Amino acid sequence: MQFINIANEGVKTLSPYQPGKPIEELERELGITNIVKLASNENPFGFPESAKKAIQKQLADLTRYPDANGYILKEVIVKKFGVNMNQITLGNGSNDLLELIAHTFASEHDEIIFSQYGFVVYPLVSQSINAKSVVIPAKDYGHDLDGFLSAISDKTKLIYIANPNNPTGTFLTHEQIDSFLAKVPENIIVVLDEAYTEFTLSSERVDSFALLKKYKNLVICRTLSKAYGLAGLRVGYTVSDPEIADLFNRVRQPFNCNSLALTAAVAVLQDDQFIQKVAENNRVEMARYEQFFKDNNLEYISSKGNFITVNLKQPALPIFEKLLREGVIVRPIAGYGLPNHLRISIGLPEENTKLFNALLQVLK
Ligand SMILES: *Cc1c(COP(=O)(O)O)cnc(C)c1O
Repeated sequence: MQFINIANEGVKTLSPYQPGKPIEELERELGITNIVKLASNENPFGFPESAKKAIQKQLADLTRYPDANGYILKEVIVKKFGVNMNQITLGNGSNDLLELIAHTFASEHDEIIFSQYGFVVYPLVSQSINAKSVVIPAKDYGHDLDGFLSAISDKTKLIYIANPNNPTGTFLTHEQIDSFLAKVPENIIVVLDEAYTEFTLSSERVDSFALLKKYKNLVICRTLSKAYGLAGLRVGYTVSDPEIADLFNRVRQPFNCNSLALTAAVAVLQDDQFIQKVAENNRVEMARYEQFFKDNNLEYISSKGNFITVNLKQPALPIFEKLLREGVIVRPIAGYGLPNHLRISIGLPEENTKLFNALLQVLK
């Protein structure tokens, strides 16, 4: 029996998600220590103290099921963003939600639109349900929203937009998204994946909650994995029209957010000091990266995220491997159709200095 023959059509040609290389794996392989990982856009400040304390308290209660409704976390989101309780859906990371959205609205042979160089989870999710991926060629590495509009057909169910986008860091303004949404038929769900919004300046940040008041077919997707530093715990949320949230609530797993994740998220969402520190480091260090690339004649894609993608103008995989031997893990993105680029997460000052030195060393 070849089980692949009886698999869902989409699954037959599906390739697994390629994660960043874990530090422990590199330690095992090369027997080196002091490794710097700048590969998965994680928070370089580590696990926030506020979340640690909250988890410690929660440990006594782990024998109980978590609150399936995540009431306390939703309450914090309500206060922080001025939305309503019945608009929020919690997820086991935002990946869980990106998939939940597809399961709720798209079926086999429906069309799902996203950008070339868009976040890799969109094609994976589309293919897993055997929907048709409609990939819009990128414009300057970013979303060509006019191209999106031209591609809309009567089979289109879903549009995914990451803003800022991963892995390119490209950014759409509030006005661009507003005028796009005004032209999308209301029976098509538009997912605005804002995994990196906390890294944008407040003056330029998209006010997606204001857009949601205008466009009921908008689903805002956020994560606690990046700026909030909880990647290992898996927690994210969507804010949408209550009717859409009600549909998500039918499809989601009953306990898709565990109690440690819930309690940690409650703590860190209220920890403004932590987020300020994280965003400030990112701003200062991003400027250092740009200067470093300019000084060394390396072309990069201007980024609003906590990562930056550099064009080495030569196959990036051998450079990636040489960097591993220097004890620095970055992210090759050939899987995105960018074989000459490497994506580098912005780390602490000393981590970034190590990357600069290692990169100069291996490019010599
Ligand atoms: C990292 C990332 C996510 C978040 O993933 P989680 O499942 O919440 O850890 C979502 N969207 C984009 C574009 C990302 O880069």
